[in-house]
Amino acid sequence: MSSSARERAVVDEVPTGLWLGGTTQPASGGAVLVVDDPSTGEPLAEVADASREDVMDALGMAVSTQEAWAATAPRTRAEVLRRAFELMTARAEDLALLMTLEMGKPLAESRGEVAYAAEFFRWFSEEAVRIAGRWSTSPDGATRLMTMKRPVGPTLMITPWNFPLAMGTRKIGPAVAAGCTMVVKPAAQTPLSMYALAAILQEAGLPDGVLSVVTTSSSGSVMEPLIRDPRLRKLTFTGSTAVGKKLVEQSAEQLLRVSMELGGNAPFLVMADADVDVAVDGAVLAKMRNMGEACTAANRFLVHESVAGEFSRGLASRMAGLRVGRGTEEGVQVGPLVDESSRDKVAELVQGAVDGGARVLTGAGAVGSRGWFYAPTVLADVPEEAALLSEEIFGPVAPITTFGTLDEAVRKANDTEYGLVAYAFTESLSTALELAERLDTGMVGINQGVVSNPAAPFGGVKHSGFGREGGTEGIEEYLETRYVGIKPR
Ligand code: NAP
Repeated sequence: MSSSARERAVVDEVPTGLWLGGTTQPASGGAVLVVDDPSTGEPLAEVADASREDVMDALGMAVSTQEAWAATAPRTRAEVLRRAFELMTARAEDLALLMTLEMGKPLAESRGEVAYAAEFFRWFSEEAVRIAGRWSTSPDGATRLMTMKRPVGPTLMITPWNFPLAMGTRKIGPAVAAGCTMVVKPAAQTPLSMYALAAILQEAGLPDGVLSVVTTSSSGSVMEPLIRDPRLRKLTFTGSTAVGKKLVEQSAEQLLRVSMELGGNAPFLVMADADVDVAVDGAVLAKMRNMGEACTAANRFLVHESVAGEFSRGLASRMAGLRVGRGTEEGVQVGPLVDESSRDKVAELVQGAVDGGARVLTGAGAVGSRGWFYAPTVLADVPEEAALLSEEIFGPVAPITTFGTLDEAVRKANDTEYGLVAYAFTESLSTALELAERLDTGMVGINQGVVSNPAAPFGGVKHSGFGREGGTEGIEEYLETRYVGIKPR
């Protein structure tokens, strides 16, 4: 099969209607929304464009299946997840190609995301059978105290376009393990991966109605009534801080349990005693994973002045050598940005920094005449007031500034309203520990440019949100604690 025929076949296999009650259905008004290939700007597929009534039907299914689903044996729920992990692993090549087509990231990165996404199912299949409570005697001896865990109940999951599978499995895995039913709303730009996942979960044995997937071109007006409906019990959101704040306000009406995985502005610290080669390797990973379109992307490089020259030269040379192109071509390392406005925003941030006095070490410009490509870019001497130091860049741009002392590094690193992740490179254990204690973020990477791990609690503080995904903490977001007082005879 030619590569374009294979691309078509992979797209054509995806159910593109609303996923309701285990079947794929057109939107009630027959509307569709178009999904584009960001490497060409051309349409790739059409999916159903849900109305308010459609998403309320999805909620109705989550509500009507909640009690029976919560009553299933933990082992049954675990085995659904385990089979889904195996199916995803067996179909990794097709899932990766589909993701690259709708989102743009290079195939190698899509393969990595499929493996990472599937690992959440394996991890939470192991957690499902370990949900436990507590038994104790009250201090005065008069009562027995029993605590038990119950599923929170019907949950709405809203996910972003940048990690179309993993941001879903990080929520679906623990919800299935805990016994919650769910309505999933993926981003309008990348819905195909989620529809493919819904079919896999059904094949893995997830009962119909436990999970619905809806897509809409009007997420604000279509989702709000669902969020305000008293039957919904939880909202979990991954996306921008601005939208997250709106959703927290809406969720206050029913006092929903809420988890928020929001934006970041990660500092990347290179201390005077760092191994500069290791720091450059880490910097390429922390910056270029997903073309910089990651909440965890290193957004500000803070480098000790004694190693700034060596680090900047090393990073510029590695960034200049990266191959930019359509993600479906083997060997491509940098795909397009997701759409034209994202690329324009990156270009504007770079221009602002350059106008303020930043020096371009490499890149700083769009690439090609088709699709939304932007060159891997390194800027030195970036002025402190440049907007790209305070805003999420969400593109392949590394701005470098310097510091003189550890206190100055910590002050600059923490000087942001965000608090998702920080990276620090040092050969000193005591410096590493001091930084781990003083950096004001939910996660810290020491001598490593990627922190994401299904076995670890992912999440932020301040405007990066609250709640944790993954690790032993991840399932707690989907569980309530019930206490039963028992009077012994
Ligand atoms: P976004 O614009 O906030 O969208 C995220 C999701 O929310 C999409 O499904 C979107 O649907 C939906 N949405 C937008 N407005 C809504 C509204 N008024 N009501 C209900 N749903 C609404 O974010 P994005 O541009 O897709 O993603 C990038 C952001 O996500 C970045 O800020 C990044 O840092 C953050 N992120 C955070 C994490 C983390 O774990 N902390 C992980 C990945 C990404 P539409 O597609 O219809 O717009």
